[in-house]
Amino acid sequence: MWARLALEKVAHSSLRRGSGAAVTRRGKVSVSAPRTGSVASQVAPAARPATAGPPYTVEVPRPRTSIESPEAIAIPGLSPAPAAAAGVHSALVDRFGRKHQYLRVSLTDRCNLRCQYCMPEEGEEDFIPSTKSEVLTSGELKRLFHLFISLGVRKIRFTGGEPTIRKDFGQIITDVGELNARLVEPLSLGITTNGVRLQKFLPVLRDAGLRNINLSLDTLVPAKFQFLARRSAAWHGRVMDTLRAVGAQDDFFRLKVNVVLMNGVNEDEIGGFIDLTEQWGLEVRFLEFMPFDGNAWNKGKMVPEKDIIASMQRHLDKRGLGDLQKIPPDSPSDVARLWQVPGFRGRLGTISSMTNQFCGGCNRIRITSSGELRNCLFGEEGWSLRDDLRTGVTDEVLTETIATAVTAKFAKLGGKKDMHDLNARGGLSLPMVALGG
Ligand code: SAM
Ligand code: SF4
Repeated sequence: MWARLALEKVAHSSLRRGSGAAVTRRGKVSVSAPRTGSVASQVAPAARPATAGPPYTVEVPRPRTSIESPEAIAIPGLSPAPAAAAGVHSALVDRFGRKHQYLRVSLTDRCNLRCQYCMPEEGEEDFIPSTKSEVLTSGELKRLFHLFISLGVRKIRFTGGEPTIRKDFGQIITDVGELNARLVEPLSLGITTNGVRLQKFLPVLRDAGLRNINLSLDTLVPAKFQFLARRSAAWHGRVMDTLRAVGAQDDFFRLKVNVVLMNGVNEDEIGGFIDLTEQWGLEVRFLEFMPFDGNAWNKGKMVPEKDIIASMQRHLDKRGLGDLQKIPPDSPSDVARLWQVPGFRGRLGTISSMTNQFCGGCNRIRITSSGELRNCLFGEEGWSLRDDLRTGVTDEVLTETIATAVTAKFAKLGGKKDMHDLNARGGLSLPMVALGG
């Protein structure tokens, strides 16, 4: 029974800015002599603006890290690193050859919901959200987008906290849209949102060419939403309205629904979510519950991928729908394993961050709202691009910081062994709301 969990106190005791890993730090990987690399611009020359922004071709000194021979490092699932890969600046290629062309940007660590697995209830703890001056401005973000694109980033996703609560959210999307319009090959742009405020921004997203919307929705039951998100059940209606509005524009938007499954809370709704894919061309993704500092994670609450798959098949059996079909991923770096119910329009995904990790194909780097570059969701270290930006450094210096962060990336799980190690050391990584999912 889902209400059982309401009795458990979710202790977000140390979800505080300034504690442990939330403090901005410089990387530990030493940078010795610089060498030079260059990257050709992806911006169409004909479309360059008359006013000069940062240069379109960037000559960058590339740091030589303490690892002299990356080719010597080989681990299962990861190919050895070339010095630089085609179309990607070497600053984005790590020791294991992974090309980090996917940038996830947290626009704020504030949120209008208080999901139990993610956020402390307001007033419950002394959580201090980042203040305005700590957060990267829209101008700083624009400069970083420009730089990352020129280094080879091809995919940008906005996340948070809740990205849509930022006052200048529309402006940030418009800015990236303008940049996107100047590219020969458009970027893949996306947002991860709780959907409460998204509907009014849909025209802005369309204008900017942002097609990929991941909507977080953990329950189809309004009363459960109230318990899970600690907000009015009426807001559940707003999220459902957003889902319908986005779903109705499937000529443009690609909609994915993220469901974090928790035993005793919403694992009994798997069937209901599967049925959404019968008429709608969307993708419902079931996520394993992950441990973050103070979110009361335990193995018993997590629904492992094998149980999710068994439960999906049970629903198909109950409805006489045949066997769940496995379908290939859209790209090798996709984190979801994909499934389909025969004859249904949409598809299903399982994201097994805990029991079956996908670190081997990871191509993600993250920027927190306060401008820290993070090389892994579970990493313990951050490199402050904001400090660099505010001391007026050149793109070359910023690129050096990016290269240092990427080079320091561990093979998997931010250097942790397994899910138990992750849980034990959860307090050392940033909470999800600060890092962006
Ligand atoms: N507020 C936005 C939202 O909820 O979609 C974006 C930020 S949220 C941190 C990004 C994603 O992380 C959401 O899909 C959310 O469900 C997921 N998430 C948060 N905490 C999680 C946890 N402990 N385990 C698994 N997924 C989690
Ligand atoms: Fe907010 Fe998203 Fe975290 Fe829920 S999961 S509290 S909506 S940031």
